[in-house]
Amino acid sequence: MNKKIKLSENDWKKKLTPEEFHVLREKGTEKPFTGKYLENKEKGKYLCAGCENELFDSDSKFDSGTGWPSFTHPVGYDNVEETEDISYGMVRTEVLCEKCGGHLGHVFDDGPKPSGKRYCINSLSLKFQEEK
Ligand code: FE
Repeated sequence: MNKKIKLSENDWKKKLTPEEFHVLREKGTEKPFTGKYLENKEKGKYLCAGCENELFDSDSKFDSGTGWPSFTHPVGYDNVEETEDISYGMVRTEVLCEKCGGHLGHVFDDGPKPSGKRYCINSLSLKFQEEK
C-alpha cells in the first residue's frame, strides 16, 4: 500500500512553487489555455507535482477544447480520490491525489466513450515524465 504523505503548510510552501502551492494546497485553478501540459502530446506518465504519485497516462489524454489538460481516466482509480465540491454555487466532483491530498482538478460526465468521463486537470498539479 502507498504511504500517505502529510506535510505542514510551511513544508509544502518550501517544496512547491507559489503557483503550484495555490492550486495543490489551496484548490486554485490555473487560467485556461495557460498550462504547460495543455498541448503536450509526448508519450509518458503524468505524476503528482506534489508527491510524484502516478496519476495519468498520456494514452488517456485528449483535447477537450476547455483549456485544461483532459484525461478519460486515471492510471488507477486508487491513485486519485474523488469528492463532492459545492464551492462557487456549483456541484462538482473534485479530484485529489490519493497520496498527498493535493487538489488536481475536477471530473465531469461529458468525456468521450467508453469512460464518458473528462478529468479536467491543472498542469500545475502535474509533473510529466517522458517515456524512455
Ligand atoms: Fe500527490
